[in-house]
Parts: sequence; structure tokens; C-alpha cells
Amino acid sequence: MRVDAESAHETYPSILRGLAFELELESAFLRLTDIDTRTSILVAEWPPKIGITYPDQSTVAYRDGPDPILALAATMKDVTVVSTAGDYAEQLDGLAPEKVPLVVIPLVAGGVDVGVLGFAKTAGRIWTECELSSLRSVALLMTQLQARVDAENRSRFAATHDELTGMSNRRALLNHLSARLEEPGCGPVAVLFLDLDQLKSLNDFLGHSTGDEYIRDVAETVRRDLGSKDVIARLGGDEFVVVLAGPTDEFIANLAAEAILMAIDGIDMPLADLRRRARIGIMMAQPGRITAERALRCADQAALIAKIGGTDNIEHFTESVRAQSELRSDVEVHLRDAIEGDALVLHYQPEVDLDSGQITAVEALVRWQHPVRGLLPPSAFIPVAEATNLAPELGRWVVDRACRTLSEWQSTLPSLDISMRVNVSPAQLVERDFVGTVEAVLRRYGVEGPQLCLEITEVAVVNDVDRTRKTLFGLHQLGVRIAIDDFGTGYSALSQLKELEVDALKIDRSFVTDLGAGDANDLAIVESVVGLADAFGLDVIAEGVETTAAVDVLQALGCTRAQGYLISRPVPAAETLELLRAGTIEF
Ligand code: C2E
Ligand code: CA
Ligand code: CA
Repeated sequence: MRVDAESAHETYPSILRGLAFELELESAFLRLTDIDTRTSILVAEWPPKIGITYPDQSTVAYRDGPDPILALAATMKDVTVVSTAGDYAEQLDGLAPEKVPLVVIPLVAGGVDVGVLGFAKTAGRIWTECELSSLRSVALLMTQLQARVDAENRSRFAATHDELTGMSNRRALLNHLSARLEEPGCGPVAVLFLDLDQLKSLNDFLGHSTGDEYIRDVAETVRRDLGSKDVIARLGGDEFVVVLAGPTDEFIANLAAEAILMAIDGIDMPLADLRRRARIGIMMAQPGRITAERALRCADQAALIAKIGGTDNIEHFTESVRAQSELRSDVEVHLRDAIEGDALVLHYQPEVDLDSGQITAVEALVRWQHPVRGLLPPSAFIPVAEATNLAPELGRWVVDRACRTLSEWQSTLPSLDISMRVNVSPAQLVERDFVGTVEAVLRRYGVEGPQLCLEITEVAVVNDVDRTRKTLFGLHQLGVRIAIDDFGTGYSALSQLKELEVDALKIDRSFVTDLGAGDANDLAIVESVVGLADAFGLDVIAEGVETTAAVDVLQALGCTRAQGYLISRPVPAAETLELLRAGTIEF
């Protein structure tokens, strides 16, 4: 008899039917036990009742509950004839109890009870020893069969479910999605790719069991938030995918994504100051037009772009997402080679004293001379570097090249007195021995500490105040200057500014560019930053000066240092040297 988990439920009734004819049975039943829930369910019976599908869900009974047969079966080791089966016999088609010698056989596999078989003989007949022993063999056979079915179910479950959360795994998800996408004519299928960020930190700081618990929390929260027909899967790590039931449109998918993010936001974080950064990428997949794998990849790409774009935490897959993720993979693969192979270049943007036009500093801005894509701006690869742990390496290259170039200019122009401003990624500030790296570069090129100014963003400061403070203190010991870049867009507390060794504030260009065009807000912000810098004894520099009107306003507010397209765009080293030779810029 070849039976597996699929066919077992069809096989049981025919076994019972065969026995019924063979042994002239009045009735027969098979109940199986779910070991996890300790419940018993009627899987097959003879004669079958009209209008019932087996397993009969209405018969679920607790194994330890009041049912007398189940209670009996639980204590039995062998075939037992219950000739006065009382209540139970009455249930068997209302036959008088004394006329129904009921045989009950426990099914026991490996010491665990897996079910019970029951047989009632046609009225008046008694059981022969031979019949009982053949029933014993049947029970043994069924026990083995059920053990096999259980094992098969378990391994099938393991093959299609995630061990940690019990949710579908990648394989089950792809099966489901493929089936959905094979129904042409049906509206689009929404695939939501959920990506969380905190798992690594949780595992690192609090251990893997806390990380696991958090993942389970997320899984349950998302499950609770969704409809019962929506499919949710965990792909591993902190990646989940939701396939919404039924055809949907972008609007509905977006609402579902918002609801999921909101629900996740409500989960208690084991690590209080860990920032929540969940994102969802949405792919609206057209049945008949796209494979499940491809749809999943599109949703994944959209989630990734949401992550590096950093503006919104829900992103729909579009052509632009596709292009951006292609660029990203390209960058990811080739950036290290670019750093090592000198394909990066620095352009320098002068900063001047607005009153005299004299150049007071230059800011090093990195570009990538890409063999195929041309000169790439930093926005195309810095976020990728930051997301792939290449930021420190890239940063080291920039500091090195900027200082080397400054020292070359100094040998050409001995009286040169400018600072070199270099942008620093948040990751560099918490890198091991960043201070040592900077010190080595200064020494290598004979550059004095105060001639180098590192620009850091407020985000970097807020992210890890303690380590940042240590690094800034070390840099201060070297005499290196620190400026807060893009000032006004972040949230650094004033008290922090005072505590940290900061020398200058650069007013973000979003407040500067339109100065003089009548925006009262911009004016108020710039005025207050200038006042703040004054109060703390910091230099203040305006970025993004594009008009003479802005220059006028800045001068009136007492901000005399500025950089911007009006003065000069960032230019290659050779051109910068010519500007430096002239010493001043007219604008
Ligand atoms: P940032 O530090 O705020 O640099 C100034 C950016 O504003 C530069 O863009 C510059 O070209 C642009 N800019 C200057 N004047 C004007 C103006 O008048 N109007 C307008 N609209 N823009 C102006 P760029 O070179 O594309 O750099 C963008 C950002 O990339 C930088 O912003 C900086 O955050 C980052 N970055 C550049 N180089 C590096 C680097 O070596 N390391 C790191 N970590 N980040 C860098
Ligand atoms: Ca900057
Ligand atoms: Ca800036």
C-alpha cells in the first residue's frame, strides 16, 4: 500500500470500509491526535455520514477532555472490548448499549498516542480472538502509516516554513506568488517587501535570542495587522514579504504598507535608543507579465532605494528605481576598485571672505570618473559606500588626497594661507583609530592640524554622541578644526555644540540660496544661526550662495564667509591652483 500525507485521508475510509465488510461491522471510526494541541479529530468513519467532509472539524475534542472513549484510549495499551459502551454506543446510531460490543484500539507510536480506532460489531455477534488479532495488525499498520504521514507533514512544513516565526519561507512565497501570477486577466498583485534595520544592532548588543524575539514580535504584529487571506513570509534575517490577497491597486497597497509600518512602530524596542528604520518597497505585479522571482526582486529593489534615498520609507517600484538600483549594484561591485585604482577625483570649491573676495578655504568634493557612466556626483556613490561599509576606506582616500594636494599647492605658493575642508561620513567618526589615520596623513604631507577642517553632519553627532565626542577630542588635540555641515537641517542640541569641540557652522544651502527673495523664514533661520555662532564663538559660513541679493543679506546679517556657484563652482585641482594664485575671486 503506497500512501503519503496527501492520499492518507482518502485511504483511511477505504480501509474502514474493507474491514466493515470483512468483519461484518456495524460501524467503525478513526480518530487521530494532534500532539501539539492535544486534540483529537474524527478522520474517517464507516458508514460515512451524508453531508460531512472528513476530517470532521466539528468533532475536535481535547484528548484530556470528558469523551469517555478518548479517556479510555489514553490509558489503554492494547485492544479492549467495551461491551457496555453506554453513552458512546448510543451515539452509534441509537443501538441499545448491551447489543454493541465496541472494540477500542489505541494507536501508539514511539510511546506517544497518535489516535484511536473503534469498531462496533453487528448486533448480537461476539468477537473472536482471531478477529481481535487481525484488528491489532490493522492498528499497527495504521500507526505506522500515521507516523509516516506525520513525519512527511513535518518535513513538508519545514521545507515551506520559516523555523523562527512559523511563517511561509521564500520557497512557499514564490510558489504562492507564481500561482497568483499565472491567472492572467486578474488585476495586479501587490508585493510588499519589508526591510528592517535594527536586527544587527539587537544581535550585537543584546544577543541573538533578543534579536529572535524581536523578529517574532514583528512577525506577529504584521500578521495581526493583515487580512487572513494575505500571505506573509519571512525570507530570513529581518526581511519579510507580504502578498496582498486579491487584485489591488497602488493606493490600497500603499495604505497597507503604511498600516504595517505604523504597527511595527508600536512594538516595544528592547533597546530604547535604537532608531526604528523600517521600509517597504512595493511592486504591483501584472499576472501573465512577470515571474514571481522578478516581482520579488523589484519589490526588494524598491525597499533598497527607500533605504539609501532615505527620504521616504515607502517606495513603489518604477523605472527610476530600476535605474537607481542598477547604478547601485554597479557601484557596489566597482567602488573598491575605483578607490584603489585612483578613479576617484577631488574637485575643490573655494570659500571666500565676502568683503574682500579673498579665498579663505577650499572644500574637497569627491567625484568618480566612471569608465562607462562618466563623472559621477557623490550622491551617486556616497550613500552606497555608507551602506556597504566602504565609507571609511573612501574617506581615508579623500583625506589623503586632499592633504597631498594642499601640500603641493603650498610648495608652489609658499605664502598660501587657506584651510582644506574635507567631508567626513558618520561611519568614519566611529571608526577605530580615525584620529590616528588623520595624524598619519598630516605628518606624511607636512600639513599643520589647523589647516585641515573636517565637516561632519549633525546626524553623525546625534547618532553616537559618546564615541563621536572621543574622536572629536582626539582631533582637537591635533589642532584639526571641525565644522558642522548642513547646519539647520538636523537636530543637534545647543548644549552638545558647546560640549563638542566644534569650530564652525556651515549654514545649509537650502536656507541661503533664496536669501533676498523675500522668504522671512530663511531670513530668520540664517539670522539665528549667525547669532548662535556668535554666542558660542564659532565661525559661520554660508553655503549655496547663488545671487548677489543673498550676498547683500548675508553681509547685513554679519556673515562674511561664503561659498556657492556665484563665487565659484567646484573645479579640478589645476584650476583651483590658478584661483589660489590669484588669491581673490570677483563676483
Ligand atoms: P556638501 O558638503 O553640502 O557640499 C556642497 C555641495 O553643494 C556640493 O555638491 C556642491 O557642488 C554644492 N554646491 C556648492 N555651491 C552650490 C550652490 O551655489 N548651489 C547649489 N545648488 N549647490 C551648490 P556635491 O559636490 O555634489 O556634493 C554633495 C554632497 O556629497 C556634499 O554636500 C557632501 O555631503 C557629500 N560629499 C562630497 N564629497 C564628499 C566626500 O569626500 N566625503 C563625504 N563623506 N561626503 C562627500
Ligand atoms: Ca560640506
Ligand atoms: Ca553642506
